[in-house]
Amino acid sequence: MDFTFTEEQDKFRQEVKDFLAKQLPADWLTGGAPEEETDEWWEFTKKFLLAMADKGWLSLTWPKEYGGQERPLWEDAILGEELAYARAPGMDYWYRWKMISALLLNFGNDEQKRKHLPGIASGEVHWAQGFSEPEAGSDLGATKVRAEDKGDHWLVNGQKIWTTGAHRSNWCFAPMMTDPDAEKRSRRLSMLLIDMSTPGITVNVMESMEGASHVCETFFDDVRVPKENLVGERGRGWLAAMALVNIERSGTGFASLPQRVLEQLVQYANETKCNGVPLAQDLVIRSKLAQIAIEIEVCRMLAYRTAWVQNTGQDVTSVGAMIKLFGSEMMQRISNTGLQIMGPYGQLEPGSKRTQIAGLIERDYLWNVSMTIAGGTSEIQRIIISTIGLGLPRM
Ligand SMILES: Cc1cc2nc3c(=O)[nH]c(=O)nc-3n(C[C@H](O)[C@H](O)[C@H](O)COP(=O)(O)OP(=O)(O)OC[C@H]3O[C@@H](n4cnc5c(N)ncnc54)[C@H](O)[C@@H]3O)c2cc1C
Repeated sequence: MDFTFTEEQDKFRQEVKDFLAKQLPADWLTGGAPEEETDEWWEFTKKFLLAMADKGWLSLTWPKEYGGQERPLWEDAILGEELAYARAPGMDYWYRWKMISALLLNFGNDEQKRKHLPGIASGEVHWAQGFSEPEAGSDLGATKVRAEDKGDHWLVNGQKIWTTGAHRSNWCFAPMMTDPDAEKRSRRLSMLLIDMSTPGITVNVMESMEGASHVCETFFDDVRVPKENLVGERGRGWLAAMALVNIERSGTGFASLPQRVLEQLVQYANETKCNGVPLAQDLVIRSKLAQIAIEIEVCRMLAYRTAWVQNTGQDVTSVGAMIKLFGSEMMQRISNTGLQIMGPYGQLEPGSKRTQIAGLIERDYLWNVSMTIAGGTSEIQRIIISTIGLGLPRM
């Protein structure tokens, strides 16, 4: 097996690294993650995303006829890897960019592509993903938010939840219940594009346990959505949603972000002494770091395999579930190990006087709890792998 990148791919990776070094403050590269989504952070993130757009990286793989560069998917994988390694701002917005562009390119009509793709490529229009509801998360087929056909418009009522970034977003893509009487559950939903400035939409920001304020509740109260905002066929929203979650789940960032944490922990172990002896001389700590290194390597191989499956146009559902499951559970194990290695220092928040590694271990430990939930829980990924991957009968 040969996993070597080509000269051109290496060149592209270096270009991304140089871009990140230029765009992000030096302390960012040593781990200065945003404490939470403050307005200041958002302004910085918007500028960063505009700079990405200037490079053409928000439309890197799109067909040229839609303003893209038609670059191979491998470059997108490299970009994702480097962005995650650098903990670039707005990564979740970038993922939603990928989802909305895939939705429009694969299911949208010409008018929708003409209207929405330029704003996505230019980094000026931000999108939220409105899939989950209080009683429809793992089971998207249970979606209840109703979009009634009123002739010239859809009338939308109900509540979505966990709509990340809805308070910053201009638009939202969301499956809605348009056909409650359809025999098949999967044919009851349709995918709609919703302008977030439409009267009747209320967004409440919720604070998550690591202190960030970016997940939202989104309420729709008699919201009029133009008929032409239906993407793809009516009653095919579930199908479109499933294609998009595959994109959400398959990312090279699952291995590269933890790689950065490992490097920081190695440095910490080399530089920190306990009773006059560097932690790096402690056999237990060395073993823990070695274990992390092995897991990250396994994760990287899974990530590359997923990228390869995507590149060859094969179904990514099962392998995407594998990388999502392995990567997210591994991230929890790593931050747990980080806490053990750093002891009480690991519990200090970013910004605390004696904090180490910019407080990232504390923050990651809390944040990574959500990694095995967001984008589909671990239980759901195991169900997908067992049915689609192994061909076991559905239960
Ligand atoms: C930080 C964060 C950001 C998010 N961002 C977004 C976003 O931007 N847009 C969006 O639409 N959603 C978002 N989500 C929502 C996320 O997709 C859902 O939380 C997830 O799909 C799980 O749904 P649920 O919370 O309703 O849990 P439930 O589906 O109610 O699951 C509860 C528990 O039951 C288990 N379970 C459920 N069904 C089964 C089954 N059949 N077999 C075995 N076990 C089962 C689950 O694994 C879980 O442990 C986000 C979530 C988080 C935490």
